[in-house]
Amino acid sequence: MLDSYAYRCEFGQMNGPQHDILGFGVSAVMDLNAQHETWHLEQRRRAMCCLPQERFKPDLLAAALVGLFGIAGNRIHDALEPAEHPNHRGFFHSWLLFAVIGRETLSHHQRLCTGQTSGTEARLLNGIGWGSCSHFASDATTAKSLPITGLFFSPPRRGRRVRRVR
Ligand SMILES: [Zn+2]
Repeated sequence: MLDSYAYRCEFGQMNGPQHDILGFGVSAVMDLNAQHETWHLEQRRRAMCCLPQERFKPDLLAAALVGLFGIAGNRIHDALEPAEHPNHRGFFHSWLLFAVIGRETLSHHQRLCTGQTSGTEARLLNGIGWGSCSHFASDATTAKSLPITGLFFSPPRRGRRVRRVR
């Protein structure tokens, strides 16, 4: 079997650390965005109650924690469908699943920003969602891109030798 590192080099795939950095960054930034939006809401409420306005203090530690869950969300895909051969991308790397997860993540994020949902679990879930989306988005930019549904892909037959790449 083609070792996954050589495969990634040949097909210009993102490697693990690049995926982790992207998953962390996207999720942490989206958490900061939600923090900022909820701060805006709170300031509007305070204005209506004639209370003094507060300065925005980003909670970087919380954003970093959400970022760690983003790494997990990003890693799920290659854990389910490891990059071991050129056609490894199936359902868990498909445009279909990207559309479903992307839509859910976006609406969950909007609920967080508008205060319809809140709390630690909701924010960590948001991190997992954005981490997953970042995986789809970055894999989509590679030469192989993503399959439409990934439901008809056939994993390689066991024991079959694939050309080794140095
Ligand atoms: Zn992948």
